Amino acid sequence: MSISYNMLRVAIHADRLRANYRLFKKDHDRVIPVIKSDAYGHGVVEVSRMLEQEGVDTFAVGFVREAVTLRTSGCDKRILALLGPVSDEDIHALWDHDILAAISHFDQLKRVAAIANTRGPLPICLKFDTGMRRLGFLPDEVNEVVAVLKKSRLVPVMATSHLASADEPGREDRVGMQTAGFRAAVDGLTSAGFAVEANLANSAGGMVHEQSRYDSIRLGISLYGGNPFQGTSWESRGDGYRPAMDVSAPVLQVHSLRAGESISYGWTFTAQRDSVVAIVGVGYADNYNRALSNVGQMTIHGRRVPIRGRICMQMTAVDVTDLIGEGKGVAPGDRAFLLGGPGTEPIMPEELADWCHTISYEIFCQLGMNRREYI
Ligand SMILES: *Cc1c(COP(=O)(O)O)cnc(C)c1O
Repeated sequence: MSISYNMLRVAIHADRLRANYRLFKKDHDRVIPVIKSDAYGHGVVEVSRMLEQEGVDTFAVGFVREAVTLRTSGCDKRILALLGPVSDEDIHALWDHDILAAISHFDQLKRVAAIANTRGPLPICLKFDTGMRRLGFLPDEVNEVVAVLKKSRLVPVMATSHLASADEPGREDRVGMQTAGFRAAVDGLTSAGFAVEANLANSAGGMVHEQSRYDSIRLGISLYGGNPFQGTSWESRGDGYRPAMDVSAPVLQVHSLRAGESISYGWTFTAQRDSVVAIVGVGYADNYNRALSNVGQMTIHGRRVPIRGRICMQMTAVDVTDLIGEGKGVAPGDRAFLLGGPGTEPIMPEELADWCHTISYEIFCQLGMNRREYI
């Protein structure tokens, strides 16, 4: 959370988040919630507390410093730092704060091993690159990894990798290729005498690709109620998960816009009929994307209202003519919902994402930087 000077209200619904976790947990033994990047904008400390009550025993974050934040907040569960240590300070934190870090390349492995010589034994997670081409040892480097481990005080307790296209129908062959590479890496560790927890799938993998499930699953987007399959033939596989985040902003002023009059910077929208507009106190400074200009929608009193003209730094105009025509008054102080909201047509994260040419993950991270309240 970092934007605090505005009038936005980000409501995080704990009941929905918990229900999403339970729904996923029904089909999987060991679920590791991914609460990196401030829990996709939902608040890392708050979300961890909600899920500890559900019996979660391991959390995954990104950087080691995120893990330290979580640990010092009082969390006593296993914490996995997926991005691994990037400095000696990070490496020392692994002992100081009991953090399980992903180790992904030889320089890093050797540096951690060297520090372990003075600090003592350390459980680690080995990250393998099975096709994403970001971080990790290649599966055929496993014997070289084993050779370093055997001379060290490092204890591999987990092996992990990440799927590049688990959410795309028709790409099952790619998942199969990655799964095979991962299998080879895990087998290499097992035959060297290291018993590791094998951890491959993300939300989409866990829901669709049985062969990617292994011992534990990293649950990210579905925990927050995003649907990784939106717009594909697998869309219904993501049903039942409810977005946990609602975002609203206040109406500042309501006035008429006559036929032929234009509105906002550049006069990019001209009214075709006598209209009424509401000016809402949210803009791109609040991470409400300017690409929504003349494209996006909000809801007021549970009804859709279209955005008119350009999004400004702290203001956006919406057309409330039809709402008023139905006898529903709109007045300053009423809440306009940019995401979620009451009624039968809440703004879905995937819809908002489509309007901005992005994915629900980015929507949550961005809007979640505003002031949050927990319900
Ligand atoms: C973010 C992340 C996840 C979670 O993926 P979702 O698609 O949100 O379920 C899992 N694994 C890694 C390595 C990640 O970075």
